[in-house]
Amino acid sequence: MISLPSRDFLETRIEDYIISSEKVAHVQLGNSAEHALLVLTKTGYSAVPVLDLKYRFCGLINAQRITESILGMNHIEYERLPEIRVEDIMQTDLPLIKINDRFQRALDLLINQNFLCVVDDEGMFMGILTRRIIMKQLKKQIYQIRNNQ
Ligand code: AMP
Repeated sequence: MISLPSRDFLETRIEDYIISSEKVAHVQLGNSAEHALLVLTKTGYSAVPVLDLKYRFCGLINAQRITESILGMNHIEYERLPEIRVEDIMQTDLPLIKINDRFQRALDLLINQNFLCVVDDEGMFMGILTRRIIMKQLKKQIYQIRNNQ
């Protein structure tokens, strides 16, 4: 039987495990849906953050939202992509995580999200925390417990 991860693990600060903002592909307010689609396609990421000029987090954009915004009656209206702004179609109703939060909160939120956007108290974008990173840490913890039994 595997024991539960220790309280220490759940209390670990997420700060050391985030992918920092300078390494995160993003788009900016005012960018077109066409630009966002290019970024998503080139990077292969499922979604990227939308930031303002001061690097504050504004929302998330993904290919599904872009495609939905250009769905016509009978075909996809690709020609409309340059006119649509990311702020008009981005997702804004998503949970954020704070730089001082702990693994416990990340684990809860990453059940339904592939990655979380990390902000500071002023809403400045600090980076992302992915499910992959947390899963790796959880795996390490479980193997450690098993080896100590
Ligand atoms: P991964 O855990 O590497 O599969 O990443 C899961 C998701 O997190 C990706 O599909 C992206 O939406 C996002 N992501 C991961 N790394 C980055 C990055 N460097 N820049 C932007 N988004 C990222």
